[in-house]
Amino acid sequence: MKDLIIIGSGPAGLSAAVYASNACMDFLIIEKYPMSGGQILNTDEVNNYLGFDSIGGFEMAEAFRKHAEKSGAKFVNDEVMEITKADGSYTVKCYSNSYEAKSVILATGVVRRHLNVKGEAELAGKGVSYCATCDGNFFRNKAVAVVGGGDVACEDALYLANICEKVYLVHRRDELRGAKYLQNKVFANDKITFVPNSNVKEIIGDGKVEKLLLDTGESLEVSGVFIAVGVKGETKLAQGIADLDEQGYIIADESCETSSEGFFAAGDIRTKPLRQISTAVSDGANAVKSVENYFNKG
Ligand SMILES: Cc1cc2nc3c(=O)[nH]c(=O)nc-3n(C[C@H](O)[C@H](O)[C@H](O)COP(=O)(O)OP(=O)(O)OC[C@H]3O[C@@H](n4cnc5c(N)ncnc54)[C@H](O)[C@@H]3O)c2cc1C
Repeated sequence: MKDLIIIGSGPAGLSAAVYASNACMDFLIIEKYPMSGGQILNTDEVNNYLGFDSIGGFEMAEAFRKHAEKSGAKFVNDEVMEITKADGSYTVKCYSNSYEAKSVILATGVVRRHLNVKGEAELAGKGVSYCATCDGNFFRNKAVAVVGGGDVACEDALYLANICEKVYLVHRRDELRGAKYLQNKVFANDKITFVPNSNVKEIIGDGKVEKLLLDTGESLEVSGVFIAVGVKGETKLAQGIADLDEQGYIIADESCETSSEGFFAAGDIRTKPLRQISTAVSDGANAVKSVENYFNKG
């Protein structure tokens, strides 16, 4: 029986691995892909992680993984299919093997919803982005579009309006769904143009985004397209074990403690106001502290 199993080797899981090594725990970290790094593998450049004014996502992922390995973390490359709890311990069933542990840190992150339109995959990282806070700065003084109508789309449009020359907010309905105060700010901002009743048909560009084609026949000349049509927490493994909020995130505060003793949620997967590398790394550290507190209590 292991002290701890960490599931997922994005920033949260890798940070937890470093702290668990330092705490001399007997633990494993399980990752479904052969590479660690999670979502940061999908970004060309990170410019907001302290100490690095510009670093490639891939390079950062490699550095994080090497640090965890050097600290003594043992990695298992397998996909976790199910977690069950019995008599105060956890069984983590993977595709090829099963492991028992006294505690679990779930750090499986989120998957951003895609539009699934022509040009989206080809131009991802070349003007198509799923994170305005992360990539907005690359479009300083340029025209961009935000696609979506909820809180995140409104917040992204407002954030980008501070940086970009012009922001189109493209939504498939005639009204936004975001909170009223956000909508008021959007409509009061003369850099933002609301484009209602429009679906994106195609994202056009030769090596980088140049144009957004809508199903109304209209086309928008933009350098960036920010897709904010929702994210989905990778929380299926927590169902039946920990409480989830309405949007499907695991309910946990900074301590990363969930409704189930010995089961912790770290990184983008938990309820939190900002999903970033820095907050995920911080969660990894806090989650291990909470595991230690849990062992000391028992
Ligand atoms: C395109 C893009 C650009 C971004 N740019 C920035 C940026 O510039 N700055 C910034 O601060 N943030 C950025 N972010 C956000 C940042 O990447 C995330 O906040 C951060 O990666 C969250 O870390 P995490 O460890 O919680 O989850 P993730 O990074 O999502 O990692 C989860 C890991 O769990 C693994 N996993 C999932 N399910 C299983 C399973 N069943 N079994 C085993 N393993 C599993 C996944 O393979 C993955 O490796 C960006 C995100 C995207 C998508």
